[in-house]
Amino acid sequence: MTMKESVALVTGGSRGIGRAICLELARQGAAVAVNYAGNEAAAQETVEACRALGVEAEAFQADVADPAACEQLIQAVKERFGKVDILVNNAGITRDGLLMTAKADDFDRVLSTNLKGAYFCMKAASKLMMRQRYGRIINLSSVVGLRGNPGQTSYSASKAGILGLTKSAAKELATRGVTVNAVAPGFIETDMTAVLPENAKTAMLSTIPMGHPGQPEDVARAVAYFAQPESAYITGQVLCVDGGMAV
Ligand code: NAP
Repeated sequence: MTMKESVALVTGGSRGIGRAICLELARQGAAVAVNYAGNEAAAQETVEACRALGVEAEAFQADVADPAACEQLIQAVKERFGKVDILVNNAGITRDGLLMTAKADDFDRVLSTNLKGAYFCMKAASKLMMRQRYGRIINLSSVVGLRGNPGQTSYSASKAGILGLTKSAAKELATRGVTVNAVAPGFIETDMTAVLPENAKTAMLSTIPMGHPGQPEDVARAVAYFAQPESAYITGQVLCVDGGMAV
């Protein structure tokens, strides 16, 4: 297996970190399935950017918060590309608020998208990967999942859950040539962090030893490292891409 023979599916590939991951994998030669929830124009833009790098690419709409849609997504990618070698569970949302006033619906939506989405995509993809005795699964966690953050109880619970999911699946799939790893970004400049109030941004920046936020490409390179065929003996690991934040 080489990167040029690999087929990658990136959930939430239309924008931000997911888009950078699509482009990095394409740059390394993989065919890319770009999943998105509602932003078709952005997904199509990512697809065109991947194609411009000389690889096959296609957009796939699916709400990963819906388990049936996750199953259909994996099947659709298999039908289009013949297989799935790399799954990047990147789709994620925040619904921030203090514990006392947070709404139950928001908790459910965050857990359904960030944690159940990754779980059901892994469940469907792992069947294919075990059969082909090859796979690379990379899950997006967060420094907030390791450390916690006031106002982000639901988000940090979902991202801590990703770590358990990653480690258990890594052990389950280890004998079948399927690795499962997590990348935990710190504070990365995307639409997700652009909406944060200035005081929250300043507070976060003060906790980064490097003193500046990261870029989506910083995360994408770490994801691509785990995605490479040569990373075969690395599984169940969590790599922070955070300018030293979690140290
Ligand atoms: P973003 O800019 O807000 O982009 C989110 C992406 O996820 C979009 O492509 C969006 O699709 C997709 N998405 C959202 N809900 C979805 C759903 N239900 N089904 C399918 N796709 C869905 O976010 P980001 O900052 O790039 O974050 C990417 C990942 O990194 C997330 O898991 C996030 O938790 C994690 N992370 C980010 C940071 C950071 O500082 N930015 C830090 C730590 C971890 P549409 O375009 O269709 O809406």
